[in-house]
Amino acid sequence: MNRITVITRNAALGPLDYRIDDEQQIAMGSLVRVPLGPRQIDGIVWDREMVEVNPVPDHKLRKIIAIADVPPISAPLRRLADWVSDYYVAPLPSILRMVMPSSYALDNARTITEYRANGVLPDRMTPKRAAALDAIADAEGTISELGRIGGVSEAVIRGLIKSGCFDAEQVSIDRPFDLPNPQFAQPKLNEYQAEAAYKMVEQVKAQKFACQMLDGVTGSGKTETYFEAVAEAFLQGKQVLILLPEIALTEPFLDRFEARFGVRPASWHSGMKSTQRRRTWHAIANGSAMALVGARSALFMPFTNLGLIIVDEAHEASFKQEDGVRYQARDTAIMRAMKENVPIILASATHAIETRYMAQLGKYETLTLPSRFGPAKMPSIKSVDLTSEPPERGRWIAPTLLKEIEQRLDMGEQSLLFLNRRGYAPLTLCRTCGTRIECPNCSSWMVEHRFTHRLACHHCGHAMPIPKNCPECDEQDSLVACGPGVERIADEVRDLFPDARTIVATSDTLYSQDRAAEFVRRVEAHEVDIIIGTQLVTKGYHFPDLTLVGIIDADLGLAGGDLRAAERTFQQISQAAGRAGRGAKHGEVYLQSHNPSNPVLQAIVAGDREGFYEQETLSRKSAGAPPFGRLAAIIISSEDEAEAISISRAIGAAAPKIDDLHIYGPAPAPLSMLRGRYRQRLLVQANRQIELQNILRSWIYALEWPRSVRVNIDIDPYNFM
Ligand SMILES: [Zn+2]
Ligand SMILES: [Zn+2]
Repeated sequence: MNRITVITRNAALGPLDYRIDDEQQIAMGSLVRVPLGPRQIDGIVWDREMVEVNPVPDHKLRKIIAIADVPPISAPLRRLADWVSDYYVAPLPSILRMVMPSSYALDNARTITEYRANGVLPDRMTPKRAAALDAIADAEGTISELGRIGGVSEAVIRGLIKSGCFDAEQVSIDRPFDLPNPQFAQPKLNEYQAEAAYKMVEQVKAQKFACQMLDGVTGSGKTETYFEAVAEAFLQGKQVLILLPEIALTEPFLDRFEARFGVRPASWHSGMKSTQRRRTWHAIANGSAMALVGARSALFMPFTNLGLIIVDEAHEASFKQEDGVRYQARDTAIMRAMKENVPIILASATHAIETRYMAQLGKYETLTLPSRFGPAKMPSIKSVDLTSEPPERGRWIAPTLLKEIEQRLDMGEQSLLFLNRRGYAPLTLCRTCGTRIECPNCSSWMVEHRFTHRLACHHCGHAMPIPKNCPECDEQDSLVACGPGVERIADEVRDLFPDARTIVATSDTLYSQDRAAEFVRRVEAHEVDIIIGTQLVTKGYHFPDLTLVGIIDADLGLAGGDLRAAERTFQQISQAAGRAGRGAKHGEVYLQSHNPSNPVLQAIVAGDREGFYEQETLSRKSAGAPPFGRLAAIIISSEDEAEAISISRAIGAAAPKIDDLHIYGPAPAPLSMLRGRYRQRLLVQANRQIELQNILRSWIYALEWPRSVRVNIDIDPYNFM
């Protein structure tokens, strides 16, 4: 009899032992269905020596039910999952949920039925049916997907199918992806690009681990350059993984891929239909999809023949997962490349300090693209001192910037006004009693959204109509909006330039791939004169007629004062500034600030990237902050404030006494209430020699707390809120 160990997708379950028959062969990593009590669950056959199993006597072992007819999860991916579990102090099943996001692998169905509305109206039209048909429009999907899109139950959809309103279509889940053609459209590279491309191609040919930091100013043609390495991988018959920070909004990237390789790549993100996910997962697992473009979780896909990983915009904070398994996708991608023994390329104009430090140490190879591609030159950057040149009362754009916008309108060029704040106003205040309207679930202000006539909490999503009377003193029409958000800037622009065509670009307006594509089309077709946007517009867009960027509040990001405030401000403003002058026309950037002598802003104005990074690296070093020290946050939350405080004190009191290990707190987390839960935080700082994860495990997991309390460990935290 043979004993095997299975890890399931259920975080409450540890590794489980099962048996297979003597004559049965089973490979490590196989996907299996096993009995658990009266139920059947799915899992992966795991290397017994990697996990701690509660031994079950032979005679009690149950037999596995089925082995899936798909390639086993490879050893490199299994070792990656082990590493993530260990490093981020997360249960292995939570990671397997990303490796095997559902039971696709074990589904026997090779086709599924999808439906599409055919224009026929039901004999009996009800408001529900009408609304559902309206919402579904020409979307295609399974019954449950259409129910979700239409906002109705599956029964309503079934009724509509019976009435003949939908045509059925059999969709194969194995429908292959088109193969990319490495020679489809070969680019003309400049000398720097050609040299960097050559070095990347060499690594792909070598087929072993190497990390390259592609460091190129905005508009230097990083994508065309690393596409050469992608092409080489395709020539070798290898699969490629490209990670982007926000896949739902990167339609232009998929277009560029198609222009270079003749086909659209497979993609992987949270907005996908489950049928698409199933098809993509299988195609990656059986090696028939050659390229996958995805967000964070694509990192855990079961590639069989991976040859190259690319992390684009590698500095982006959105690569850090902030709930569930709190992993850093860039760091984890490097680990996957090591386990797979393949090269990885990190591309950015403003690399993270952590990445640059590794390059300095010589662990990553630096490839530099020092100039913009083609005729475009770097934009010139000036600051506008708001203390000596304030905007008019109740306005936010200073005279200098206004004059520049006006000139662009006269010349038929486009402007971008950047403010990293969604909504109309970040704060609503009562003129009579001074009350600020706060979210009932979180310790944060309600943000006014004038498009939707609502106040919204950006942390939990709570929304309410804007009250007419003050909720505190009941005074009528006493509430006023304080400070600007992008919608307010848009109002100001429309007021001052009534003939200009404006567009607001935020996650509220560009919430889907279609909306993002429409935005790009309108700007490219020059149907827009002025874009007002958040950091969303700073990502990878390339608008040749855009020659002016105005940073409305350059001080905004520096106010938080956390570990990465300076770096984040530098990155965001550099990225926003980088949208200016990407075509033949010269670009100009104006930074509005109350404190233009701030060293971060001075470095941006002077174009002194190296100087900024040197300063910032030094200050991280003297603070013992990453990458020079280790940092972890322990967040303790409960609906009962006293309970959150007492448990966090108990955890703090149980902290081990170790040299070079410092514990700060507990203190209320800066966002001390979130989604109705009170939050306390302990920060743990240690020098690099300390095995922080082991210490945390033996410290935290030796303790017990009531079920009403949640304790989350966040290794290398990004979010200091
Ligand atoms: Zn009031
Ligand atoms: Zn809230």
